[in-house]
Amino acid sequence: MDLDSSFGSAARAISNPCNVCGRFPSRTVAFHRNVGLVFARRIHTFQGDLCRSCGRGVYRDFQHRNIALGPWGLISLFATLYYLANNAIHAASFRRDLDTPQPSDPELERKLQGRPVLLRPGGLALMALLGFLVVSGMMNSGKADNAPEEAHWRVGACVVFDGSVANPVSCGSTEHDATVTRIVASETACPDTTEWWVEVDDQSVACLEE
Ligand SMILES: [Zn+2]
Repeated sequence: MDLDSSFGSAARAISNPCNVCGRFPSRTVAFHRNVGLVFARRIHTFQGDLCRSCGRGVYRDFQHRNIALGPWGLISLFATLYYLANNAIHAASFRRDLDTPQPSDPELERKLQGRPVLLRPGGLALMALLGFLVVSGMMNSGKADNAPEEAHWRVGACVVFDGSVANPVSCGSTEHDATVTRIVASETACPDTTEWWVEVDDQSVACLEE
């Protein structure tokens, strides 16, 4: 399939009526979507003249099907993301170029435009896809990023001195200089064995021992 030529022809304006509702103004547009078959894939293309409302409807339909059927397979995952982005770019320029078709009727426009992609069942698949990408990104980013999550000023927390600044750290992952023995209202309330104290906020002080 020659994708370049179909994208190229989308740029030229043709004064045909909308292929779906028959109104004007319309413009030629092309949308693509991937169908992932794990070890193979298929590309579906729409090309035709559409008005603003029907263009939006076809665009949403393609994005929805692309999300639901597209990403199943390694190459398919990337092809799906590529088509999602590409269709979005084409849809944006399409919307910019065209005015609302005439005669216009708010009820009809709503029907032709269809539901937003995220409100369709495939929207959930998009969430899952993004979740998958975020999780696999986090898994690759290393252990260091996980440390601050556990590090709070609380009794038993481990503390590292960095110059004159004391920072709570995760006890498991890093060597530490001190441990928080108490969290009290003022340093005078720290036990006698306290070696250092740190003002955590206006109301609390952490007492530290080696
Ligand atoms: Zn139309």
